[in-house]
Amino acid sequence: MNEKDNFTVIWNETLSQIRSELDEQEFLTWFNLELQKADEKEFTIAVPSLFYLDQVKKRYQAYIEGKIEELIGKRVTINLVIGLKSDVSADVPEKPSKSSPAAEKQAPSGHKKEKHPQLRDDYTFKSYVIGENNSFAANAAQAIASNPGTAYNPFFIYGGVGLGKTHLMQAIGNYIHANTDNKVIYISAETFTNEFIATINDTQRAKTAFKNKYRFADILLIDDIHFLQKKDGTQEELFYTFNALYDANKQIVFTCDRPVSDLKDFNERLRSRVGRGLKVDLQPPNYETRCAILKRKAETSGVVIPDNVIDLISKNISTNIRDLESALNTLTAYAKLVGKPVTLEVAQQRLKDVFASPRQLNISIEIIQRVVAEKFRLSHNDLKGKKRNHSIVYPRQLAMYICREITDHTTTEIGQDFGGRDHTTVMYSCQKIEDIVRSDPAVDTTIQSLIRDIKDYSVKS
Ligand code: ADP
Ligand code: MG
Repeated sequence: MNEKDNFTVIWNETLSQIRSELDEQEFLTWFNLELQKADEKEFTIAVPSLFYLDQVKKRYQAYIEGKIEELIGKRVTINLVIGLKSDVSADVPEKPSKSSPAAEKQAPSGHKKEKHPQLRDDYTFKSYVIGENNSFAANAAQAIASNPGTAYNPFFIYGGVGLGKTHLMQAIGNYIHANTDNKVIYISAETFTNEFIATINDTQRAKTAFKNKYRFADILLIDDIHFLQKKDGTQEELFYTFNALYDANKQIVFTCDRPVSDLKDFNERLRSRVGRGLKVDLQPPNYETRCAILKRKAETSGVVIPDNVIDLISKNISTNIRDLESALNTLTAYAKLVGKPVTLEVAQQRLKDVFASPRQLNISIEIIQRVVAEKFRLSHNDLKGKKRNHSIVYPRQLAMYICREITDHTTTEIGQDFGGRDHTTVMYSCQKIEDIVRSDPAVDTTIQSLIRDIKDYSVKS
């Protein structure tokens, strides 16, 4: 036996021992690995995609190295690389990048399929820019698109508004729709609820039609599932739909604005099913990714956006991708209407208010409290605290009102940051201030001047 064969024997034995230790499903999911080369110190092992690489590295690398050490009595390093020779991954969506544009292939039969009626055709993998904020989610989505209903079911994508959840979910749908004959259904949780409610007084036949519509999907994409909180009847319907699809190995994908564990007023049975598969989150993009996204969007807008403008927007807008897009749209609309090029000066002028908006300045409740407290010569603690004399109550109400006006915090969150008060107290305070403003417009001037101070303070801090 030559040396290569020796290593192959060791590798095969390693795999077979691992197989005997792991759950069969787990083994089949993760150990589609190929020995590419080996020497005394290092085994080079190929995996199907970047997503597998991340996962195998994290979950199994040390375990595999330990197994080999047990077998041969020596520690070797596993070097993971992408690309199997026996390429089972031929239909894995290519990793979108400038140099490899074609993530969306044609249908296998060669005919160009009609656009999917519920999916936006520009929400594809190809147009989805990958950065460190979303690479895990995007790779997982690609793995699912090429192998739906197998390893990661359901797939749960969560994150704040405008971070690309819907785009990624629809990219999965578009890819499967273009490349297979699977029936893809996309629906927002809100529409699902409305359709469900509409059937309540319907005939049995109409009810069955509604159920069948979803239970015959091969891929079911349900967007913004947090919308179902408190909607018991719809949750129950979804629970049955979920079971029917899951048992038939159909792929289900959810998006949500929060982690599964934060879904309130959610039926426990449904929650545990929703969270059973792979959960990935989307984070806000960093500066470099923001630039890359803007460049990609600018290319398709037909308006030349110089690099210094891309830099300006990326530095000033950090909230989410929807906000980036809307800033860019402001500039392209201007250029098209006025027929002038977009320069740095134009961008500064046009986007001045957007950049100075409280959201982009990241104004916190604490900053508001500090500025208001200072203005009324109170301590920060008094403003948040329990004292109820008028000289404190009024500024406190004013601060709560400003929080509600210029931040995205809910009244519950505001109440919490004001000494754990109830959200109804916050609502009452805001109402009080609105009444005062109505009877004494001068108070509004005070409020506007406070807001200016708060913004200045936020720029400095
Ligand atoms: P969400 O559903 O999380 O609120 P969306 O998917 O609607 O967010 O995304 C908001 C906008 O930002 C969409 O126009 C989408 O195309 C764009 N977008 C989000 N993430 C990316 C990305 N990584 N690359 C390119 N565009 C993106
Ligand atoms: Mg969305």
